[in-house]
Amino acid sequence: MDKVRVLIVEDERKMANLLKRGLEEEGYTVDLAADGPEGILLGTDNPYDMILLDIALPGQDGIEVCRTLRTSGVSAPIIMLTARDTVDMKVSALDSGADDYLTKPFSFAELLARLRALQRRTKTEVPAKLQVADLVVDPITRRVSRGGQEIILTPKEYALLDCLMRHPNQVLSRTVLAESAWGESYDALTNVIDVYINYLRNKIDRGFEPKLIHTRRGLGYVLEDETSRG
Ligand code: CA
Repeated sequence: MDKVRVLIVEDERKMANLLKRGLEEEGYTVDLAADGPEGILLGTDNPYDMILLDIALPGQDGIEVCRTLRTSGVSAPIIMLTARDTVDMKVSALDSGADDYLTKPFSFAELLARLRALQRRTKTEVPAKLQVADLVVDPITRRVSRGGQEIILTPKEYALLDCLMRHPNQVLSRTVLAESAWGESYDALTNVIDVYINYLRNKIDRGFEPKLIHTRRGLGYVLEDETSRG
């Protein structure tokens, strides 16, 4: 099997070296970048499988670096490392295009588990289009359209919609959504799920009929074309 290539963007040398050594012992190939510009340079020049990105970087912070990488077409999964554990911080990290985040201090075992979860998720693509009413998701190109109109989603919104589309007419709890769409199981994350469901509604349901995302109070969310029910 090819080695998984990881880029670590972290200005604290001790932390960076510790992570590098640990990941290399686990069989990963690791490059280090000490600041934002170097991270962008390496990240856009090399086909990394994963990027670990510290938010608190001198000059250009991790959020900006992540945004720049995404607008430059870098699609590798990005895990943000943050010292501040707030819903706002998580939402800005995910909004900038990150796939996941870890709050410092974190255990190395947890980091490894997150990396494995992201690797699994990027591997298990199902090569068939998913459709509910006139909403179509293509898991290969990750294109989403409703009524033939293309809809642009962030990676997080896409993962959430993909999960809902694979279980149509089935009520999914916030915990299940956080776990199966994003590979996370935090209680605090249920707020984030609500925020992202709203983003999704604005994009796929606003201005369209029938509405497809429904809230089941106390239970979670379901994607369903209620008009097609007999
Ligand atoms: Ca830092």
